[in-house]
Amino acid sequence: MKSAKLFLINKIPRKYLIILSFLFVKIFSIFFYGHKFYCPICQKSFWKFFDYGRPIRKNVLCPGCLSLERHRLLWLFFKDKTNFFKDNIRLLHIAPEQAFYKKIKKMNNVDYVTSDLESPLAQVKADIKNLPFDDNEFDVLICNHVLEHIDDDKKAMQEIWRVLKPNAWAIVQVPMDFSRIKTFEDKNITSPKDREKYFGQHDHLRLYGLDYKDRLEQAGFKVDAIDYLTLLSDNRKKYLALPKKELIYLLRK
Ligand SMILES: [Zn+2]
Repeated sequence: MKSAKLFLINKIPRKYLIILSFLFVKIFSIFFYGHKFYCPICQKSFWKFFDYGRPIRKNVLCPGCLSLERHRLLWLFFKDKTNFFKDNIRLLHIAPEQAFYKKIKKMNNVDYVTSDLESPLAQVKADIKNLPFDDNEFDVLICNHVLEHIDDDKKAMQEIWRVLKPNAWAIVQVPMDFSRIKTFEDKNITSPKDREKYFGQHDHLRLYGLDYKDRLEQAGFKVDAIDYLTLLSDNRKKYLALPKKELIYLLRK
């Protein structure tokens, strides 16, 4: 029964997990309550996290808020290294992750705007290549795991740059192959099966390498690639179920 349930969770696209989760996270939180893992976003502890991903990763999806490893890492980073919880900010969150959304909505210092083409969490339905916002409008922008789905990612980066105020910052993470110097893309790879094989997921259009930083700089950003994981102890990384490897790209206009 348990393995059937975990299998099912892994098969459901995250878009639908968002809707289902509102019904189930409360039940999961009770069922999974324990002391082996802790989620810094929903601030609950569990005896296990859900297994998730392709290939499947053990203990990665928080039963309390559906955060993954990278979300928990970013949340720590926001707290430790940015003004996210301190200053009054106008925030644009593109493709809002549910784990963040629930918490940010309750933050009094954040003037919170969400945008996406289809997410039920988005207030403003919009194409990232043509955002319906003024120049210099936002203090902070979050847009994770979106650009790998966008044909003209340069245009999307330029739009992100445009709507940010001078000196504003953004987090725009993408799935990466850290062994790759140069991003791999090939417009002839179009079938879902081939895209999964070469880019890692059926609807990804490229596989970013370490030149991701260069691409962002070409769009106008000042970029710091921060290996924040190296500042955390092994015990903490295990307890919070953080990524094995992740660079946080902190972009400034
Ligand atoms: Zn959580």
